[in-house]
Amino acid sequence: MPESTPPAHRVLIVGAGFGGLSCARKLARQPGIEVTIVDRHPYQVFAPLLYQVATGGLPEDDIAYSVRAAVPGASFRRGDVVKINAEAKTVRLGDGAVLPWDELVLAVGSTGTTFGIPGVAEYAMQMKTIQQARAIRHRLLQTYEDVELGRRPKEALRVVVVGGGPTGVEISGAVAELQRAMRREFADLHGLASVTLIEAGPRLLPSFTEKSSAHAKAELEQLGVVVKVDSAVDRMYPTDVHLTSGDVLTAGTIVWAAGVAAPADWKDLGATDRANRLEVSPTLQLGDDIWVIGDIAHVAGADGRPLPMVASVAMQMGRYVARAITRRLAGEPLKPFAYKDKGQMATIGRRRAVVEMPSGLKLHGTPAWFAWLGLHVFYLAGGRQRVSVIADWFWNYVAWGVGPRRTVID
Ligand SMILES: Cc1cc2nc3c(=O)[nH]c(=O)nc-3n(C[C@H](O)[C@H](O)[C@H](O)COP(=O)(O)OP(=O)(O)OC[C@H]3O[C@@H](n4cnc5c(N)ncnc54)[C@H](O)[C@@H]3O)c2cc1C
Repeated sequence: MPESTPPAHRVLIVGAGFGGLSCARKLARQPGIEVTIVDRHPYQVFAPLLYQVATGGLPEDDIAYSVRAAVPGASFRRGDVVKINAEAKTVRLGDGAVLPWDELVLAVGSTGTTFGIPGVAEYAMQMKTIQQARAIRHRLLQTYEDVELGRRPKEALRVVVVGGGPTGVEISGAVAELQRAMRREFADLHGLASVTLIEAGPRLLPSFTEKSSAHAKAELEQLGVVVKVDSAVDRMYPTDVHLTSGDVLTAGTIVWAAGVAAPADWKDLGATDRANRLEVSPTLQLGDDIWVIGDIAHVAGADGRPLPMVASVAMQMGRYVARAITRRLAGEPLKPFAYKDKGQMATIGRRRAVVEMPSGLKLHGTPAWFAWLGLHVFYLAGGRQRVSVIADWFWNYVAWGVGPRRTVID
């Protein structure tokens, strides 16, 4: 009698982002494990470069990579997970399909949050998805056309960015550089465009050292960005940002980069923190068979504070869970997840960046910028994307970005 093969152990990964794909890549190689990835999009977004799409520096398909191509050996099902049934061990998709699992990895990331400030949801532009980045780019570029033709007032060329973390700093610098490049094409509008960066706290880049924060502020100011710290937004109207100080800023484009939260949909799975993140065990579990990773997981780091919502945390968690699942199947005990700090970096503009390594090494300016470029190319998925991004960056650097990509296409 031939021996019957035991059924494969079904691991369902919800979310094909940094965490979900890192987990899938490692697990799909394991014998006896069947990996299925579910995502509402068929591509992974490389979010750290979204601001470059939003400012016309890169085309969007350079930062989106096919999930189906990303993990050989895993299955992909496109769909929106709307319900998780932990008892029946199934998920339900928006189209009504029900998928079974033996173990579930929840890696759904985070979304922009408005902190309930009136007008933010209606009038500020978020930058979490390709569609949102494309909308910002369109607004920025179309405004030049509209002001030139007298369809919008000159004040429409002013841009306000809210949030002085890495995303706010990066997009402010990139908008300032875009405005500088546009002077050549819209010489008559010279001097009308501006960028103001608003931060509620006392300094930019609060997770960096004070020296790096001060450096970032000085660099942005050199690019012409008006930086307002200790300035909290009170409410917004279509073209006005009201600060709690009573000041009012008028702008044609308002970009919201002031914070993220996990989606509220999964709060019934367990206890959550203020950012809707699920509080999981040190082994990233909720119960026995649900693993939670990336931005949606609340886990304390070595200093007792929750780990930051960044890509390196999500990727390390994804790889950890893949190892944990195989260890458990082999009957081996699990060690708690331990995050290895990889440092932090933010770019401000061409040859302007700040890098802080866990060793204490700090880089500013050109060396930091090259480190930033190298790391981002390294982590981009897909050979075509890497070649294309390098080519675009090279061209943008030598030609100040003058090229067909900055045409407005309706
Ligand atoms: C503009 C921006 C810039 C950033 N810059 C940096 C940076 O420079 N460095 C850094 O380390 N981090 C950066 N981050 C943060 C980093 O992108 C996140 O920490 C990281 O993506 C988290 O990984 P994740 O796997 O948890 O979620 P994600 O990578 O966001 O992936 C979540 C996936 O889940 C899918 N999904 C969500 N809900 C459902 C559902 N119900 N059904 C099906 N699919 C679903 C989404 O479509 C998505 O593909 C940035 C983020 C943004 C938005």
